[in-house]
Amino acid sequence: MIQRSDRLQNVSYELRGPVYEKSKELELQGHQVTKLNIGNPAPFGFSAPQAVLQHIVENLSLAQGYSDHKGLLSAREAVKNYYQDAGVPGIHVDDIFLGNGLSELIMQSVQALVNNGDEVLVPSPDYPLWTAAVNFSGGKAVHYLCDEESGWSPDVADMRSKITNKTRAVVVINPNNPTGAVYSREILTEIVKLAEEHELIIFSDEIYDRILYDQAVHIPTATLTDKAVCITMSGLSKNYLAAGFRAGWMLISGAKSKAADYIDGLNTLASLRVCSNVPAQYAIKVALEGVPSVQDLVLPTGRLGKQRALCYEKLTAIPGITCVKPMGAFYMFPKVDTKKFDIHNDQQLVIDLLAAQHVFVVQGSGFNWHQPDHFRVVYLPDVEVISDTMDKLSNFFSNYKQA
Ligand code: PLP
Repeated sequence: MIQRSDRLQNVSYELRGPVYEKSKELELQGHQVTKLNIGNPAPFGFSAPQAVLQHIVENLSLAQGYSDHKGLLSAREAVKNYYQDAGVPGIHVDDIFLGNGLSELIMQSVQALVNNGDEVLVPSPDYPLWTAAVNFSGGKAVHYLCDEESGWSPDVADMRSKITNKTRAVVVINPNNPTGAVYSREILTEIVKLAEEHELIIFSDEIYDRILYDQAVHIPTATLTDKAVCITMSGLSKNYLAAGFRAGWMLISGAKSKAADYIDGLNTLASLRVCSNVPAQYAIKVALEGVPSVQDLVLPTGRLGKQRALCYEKLTAIPGITCVKPMGAFYMFPKVDTKKFDIHNDQQLVIDLLAAQHVFVVQGSGFNWHQPDHFRVVYLPDVEVISDTMDKLSNFFSNYKQA
């Protein structure tokens, strides 16, 4: 019997886990499944800006060879300018790495840091790749709470209480997946202070930094510190609706001299995989410098703005469901009243929903949330589909086992 490595024992990604397999089975049987499991804009009719697509095509012949392992200089210069304009101090183009999506850079940045037994503070709920990357690297993901009562803001006191002499880094996801929270300057400043005090690297995942609603303001964590090492991470998947290109980047800023050896390790890992997909690297400069992003879509009259409003209205009208209104990204993380419904296992809840209504959402535990009382909805489908899907959810809960 050939077995997986020990490193994979504690690693999962429920967005494409066992429930995903069940949804594929249903589709094979000829059923239409509404897949609200993954934040992939293209299948819902969103398109990357025309100028970006055209630029990739025009540069295809130039993109046949490998690039530098950190990525094309022109793309990294564009990333540098983006963060310089946002107020991040002391940026150098050499501190920017491009990756096959942010996912690859999350894996590399964690693998380059973590030794067996090292701890990394990861939010609960989280985007589960972060927990998986830490566990896969032999480390321990220690979850700090985000507080639903205060709009899913990180609970900094909880974070502080979980720091040990093994803690190496803290992960901040802002705007957040799955909650849609956008963090205040005060909260970010407290986190930065903690990182400075305990010499923790800050991994700031800001892949939704332009998907903001109702005048929400995004503050890049790196603008708040030159004393901690901050790794800002983003890409084209969400802001430019181009998830399939696999174009991501990370920027190291702050007290870089303290992390020279770690940065050298990142360099080694980047060179081991030679370079990221070169045609997609060509998209970065034109996207960041040349074309509008999602700003029209997030307006109340824009497609994402309308879908968010309708999804929130219909979801929160279901008896037993409450939800914090998201201020960024395109997810909602509603709470199910477990005093009203008989729910002890949230995976079973989403399997029951899939079976009864052919709607696929992901259980809260898939985001390392430790109570069986949440699930995540992706509100990328158009308003007709959202309306129909929320009716199905309403129907499902009105017939669900009562506590
Ligand atoms: N970080 C967060 C918070 C995400 O939600 C995602 C994708 O859903 C990623 C990282 C990975 O994005 P990419 O498509 O760039 O690999």
